[in-house]
Amino acid sequence: MRMSADPAISLQFLGAAQHVTGSRHLLTTGDTRVLLDCGLVQGPRRIAEQQNRNLPVDGRTLDAVVLSHAHIDHCGALPRLVKDGFRGPIWCTEATADLLRLMLLDSAQIQAQDARHLRKRGHDVEPLYDVEDVERTLRLVRGVPYRRPTAVTSELRVEFLDAGHILGAAIVVLDCTAGRRERRVVFTGDHGRKNLPILRDPERIPECDALITESTYGDRDHPLQADMLEQLAAIVTEELHDGGRIVVPAFAVGRTQTLVLFLGQLMRAGRLPQLPIHVDSPMSREATKIMAAHPQLYDDETQALLRAGHDPLFFQGVHYVADVAESKALNHLRSGVVIAASGMCESGRVLHHLAHSLERPQDCVLLVGYQATGTLGRRLLEGATEVHMLGTTYPVRCKVRSMVGMSAHADRGELLAATSHLTGRCSQVFVVHGEIGPANAHAERLRAAGFRSVSVPAKFDQVAIP
Ligand SMILES: [Zn+2]
Repeated sequence: MRMSADPAISLQFLGAAQHVTGSRHLLTTGDTRVLLDCGLVQGPRRIAEQQNRNLPVDGRTLDAVVLSHAHIDHCGALPRLVKDGFRGPIWCTEATADLLRLMLLDSAQIQAQDARHLRKRGHDVEPLYDVEDVERTLRLVRGVPYRRPTAVTSELRVEFLDAGHILGAAIVVLDCTAGRRERRVVFTGDHGRKNLPILRDPERIPECDALITESTYGDRDHPLQADMLEQLAAIVTEELHDGGRIVVPAFAVGRTQTLVLFLGQLMRAGRLPQLPIHVDSPMSREATKIMAAHPQLYDDETQALLRAGHDPLFFQGVHYVADVAESKALNHLRSGVVIAASGMCESGRVLHHLAHSLERPQDCVLLVGYQATGTLGRRLLEGATEVHMLGTTYPVRCKVRSMVGMSAHADRGELLAATSHLTGRCSQVFVVHGEIGPANAHAERLRAAGFRSVSVPAKFDQVAIP
């Protein structure tokens, strides 16, 4: 890709370019420099550590950060940016602002734990940031409602549309002014799906000059949601027969609530017996509370359920584990469902539950989300016969099953459908947030659909918006 001399409006891709984690894009319009997302890179420690510690942009040169949503691969490097001198506002939706506190404090805690753990083994490691850096970051956050255009500077206005991905997630509309030129850039963030439980459907992507689109599942279709319920019912029923338990690694925000809601639906419909569901993550409990505090963002179905007196997230049979003692007690639990973070098995309490289930043939690990290359979740998904975690090697004797259909990301057909009305109208499309295969596949489909300029930028590529 060509470097442009000094474009009045430009984009530079600083992360999640030909990858899925570490979402970071720099938008320049006139004198305004804004970072879209400031996510953590996840994956093999050595690489992630280096890329998260040395951010590719100087925080002191930025006017603002605009966040698409609160998943850690989109917001988790913010406190590092602040530690490096960023002092501008951080714009996001109100619900994202609520979730951000939870996500960043948790991230600081995980890093402190990791650093302690590594120091014990003789490595000299400082956490990327600490709780104070998080508090400083949170003071910069400005939450605004969906669909309220907001001036970031005189050269940039931002508006958030519902992305239907997780609570608060947004399609970000950026109206840029540079001299007399006005251009609209739209960033899909993580594009959600129609008919996801609880959440509203993604809004229509508005007309724009440049589109930055995700492509996580750019090369595959998800099963229908009705089939997912069937599949979940089948898996759980089978496990009940096998006399084992099901451990579900799931992100505290989004997938955990979806799973709880699905299991509740199946139990209410008599498709599953009443079985205990343990959500072992203080963070999930908090995230669920935040979700419960934003009923105005629910879809019609969930609002109707609430009106009928059913709580989709807090019902009999679901237990949100409060403390470490309770969490440890779950080690002896031999049946039921245990849901714990993190979703890709990179850290968190799920590791302890895996330690007690991996060697038991009657147990099952159920993977319900995207598993990035290099993560423990991916190794399990790919059928590893032994895995290394918590400083020990474990043989994998349990069943490992996956339900990709649980994804909160659009599949290739949905992604294409979400953008097809822009064919011939949007002059540049940048495909990001996908590993190279899916990203190229999605780019190819966009070209075939009639988009003229479609590229899959590499990290550090800079492009002008003419
Ligand atoms: Zn996301």
